[in-house]
Amino acid sequence: MEFKLLRIDLTEWRAKEEVLKDGIMRKYIGGRGLGAYLAMKEIPPHINPLSSENKIYILTGPLTGTGAFETGRYHVVGKSPLTGILGDSNSGGQFGPWLRFAGYDGIVVEGASDEPVWVSIVDGEVRFHPAKRLWGKGVVYTEKKIRAEMKTPSEHIGSVLAIGPAGENLSKIAAIMNDKYRAAGRTGLAAVLGYKKLKAIFVKGSRKIEMADKKKFHEESKKILKKIMEHPISDALGKFGTAVLVNIINAHGAFPTKNWTRGTFEKAFEISGEYLAEKYLVTNKGCWGCVIRCARVSKVDSGPFRTPVSEGPEYESIWAMGANTLIGDLKALIKLNYLANDLGFDTISLGNTMATLMELYEKAKKGELPEDKAKELLDLLEDIAPEWGDPHAFIQAIWRAAYRDGIGDLIAEGAKRLAEYFGSPDSAIHVRGLELPAYDPRGINSMALSYATSNRGGCHLRAYSVSFDVLGVPEKFDPLAIDKRKVELVKYQQDYFSVIDSLVLCKFNTFATDHTDYVEILKAVTGWDDLTADELLIAGERIYNLERLFAVREGHGYKDYLPKRLIEEPLPDGPAKGKTAKEALETYLPYYYELRGWVDGIPKKETLHRLGLEEFEHLGA
Ligand code: SF4
Repeated sequence: MEFKLLRIDLTEWRAKEEVLKDGIMRKYIGGRGLGAYLAMKEIPPHINPLSSENKIYILTGPLTGTGAFETGRYHVVGKSPLTGILGDSNSGGQFGPWLRFAGYDGIVVEGASDEPVWVSIVDGEVRFHPAKRLWGKGVVYTEKKIRAEMKTPSEHIGSVLAIGPAGENLSKIAAIMNDKYRAAGRTGLAAVLGYKKLKAIFVKGSRKIEMADKKKFHEESKKILKKIMEHPISDALGKFGTAVLVNIINAHGAFPTKNWTRGTFEKAFEISGEYLAEKYLVTNKGCWGCVIRCARVSKVDSGPFRTPVSEGPEYESIWAMGANTLIGDLKALIKLNYLANDLGFDTISLGNTMATLMELYEKAKKGELPEDKAKELLDLLEDIAPEWGDPHAFIQAIWRAAYRDGIGDLIAEGAKRLAEYFGSPDSAIHVRGLELPAYDPRGINSMALSYATSNRGGCHLRAYSVSFDVLGVPEKFDPLAIDKRKVELVKYQQDYFSVIDSLVLCKFNTFATDHTDYVEILKAVTGWDDLTADELLIAGERIYNLERLFAVREGHGYKDYLPKRLIEEPLPDGPAKGKTAKEALETYLPYYYELRGWVDGIPKKETLHRLGLEEFEHLGA
């Protein structure tokens, strides 16, 4: 299989093609795995992520755009300005397939431009366009202008990836957006594009994706489709979107509320997927090639939160900007979601950072911050009073964060730096600098291990152990019971999800499938006729270890831990009342290291040999 990269040199405004060898693709598959490998080889150790030496890899996978289901995604990799280790993020919409149709399987963004620029790629032709008039503008306006210039008004043809003012102003919690409302949100990689002054990329083309055996591909594709369509979770996601989880997670007492000081939110139903469907839903929508169609299209017709027809909000956005800040008005959350997308923020990080700000504000007023820091905070806030549950203060703050105005300059840095600056580091709930998502590990104890060992920082998408602790997939566990079999499942998910992110598929496939389901379809596309299920899973394990080695190389980010609040403060309410995540983490971690072949978070040399990572042996324990 040939994998064609386009290297875009922004310093010189030049582009060149490069064909990757089949051996590299088979070892790292594509997407996340290939990005991790290229980043290890090409990004020098210890560089400032916001420098021209950093690179951004925008990659598809071997199944992207083939017509197989749930394959309309792409993956972004680079050194994260938020965490200082390897960052990556995944997004749906249409950009991934259209990038392949435009003639390339991936883009490597290198160097840095002196002035704002956007790039068009149409059937292999690459052009650089000055972007001064787009700089400072929102994502929606940017897409509209670029489509007009490319004479491609139909949103079904071609795709635009863009950053908003947040990325331009180097916010460490900025998201790379595409198709206006889809976000590669996590780890702040939009700030790297902002540093490089790359405002947007437009892709369009008519290239057909070649495959080794088309007939077999269609047969295998149908088998996977049947599994996805027959799974009850697929049906629920289509009807109510990801926010179908609000009531479920709240009922388990694991719905982080008021900056992770509680596990239940009394207004959960009013911000749920069911309520959204009843009140504000226009229709549902899918990424390219999707049959589940979990995306929401919503609007608010009138009032202070009037919002045009737009996509979202998702479960994570509703939670982070809602329960975690005590905002229980869905209209306000639709508005906040729209603004966050248009200005280009990661809603998980933004919601957590605002919750941290609200806690700091409360502490400042109660005299619980160092005196000088309390005074500085109150001065910087000017006319904003970020009280718990106040959407208007949130809206004011979001604008200031996007343009780094006043207190916005610190909000743009993310929760960890904000809390540290004001002398209250434990007010930020993060792992490795990445703000945590919407599942409290005190109420779903397998998430303690998932978060602590997640290579890109605290994240639910490296291992979604909610699937077995709450949803009963593949089997039901008690979310509060300590059970070492959960460790085996977390490790399996981390390896399997590495495969999924490298094939660049939607994770919602994984409720209905396991790694064995993708062997035959991958053979049909790539011609790797002797591929086995074991080889595929080992590729996932290789990728997981390689990402960990990037952190080892940087000299930090490989210690596995949880925020102090989750270890020391018992939940005060709900079914998990009285629980912390301490016992789970202390029980699970040693067994996890044993299964992984790691010592204190660092892969052993023999593990690296077993996984074919000998060239990185010097980083092993
Ligand atoms: S299930 Fe949702 S996120 Fe996944 S491909 Fe479909 S619309 Fe996109």
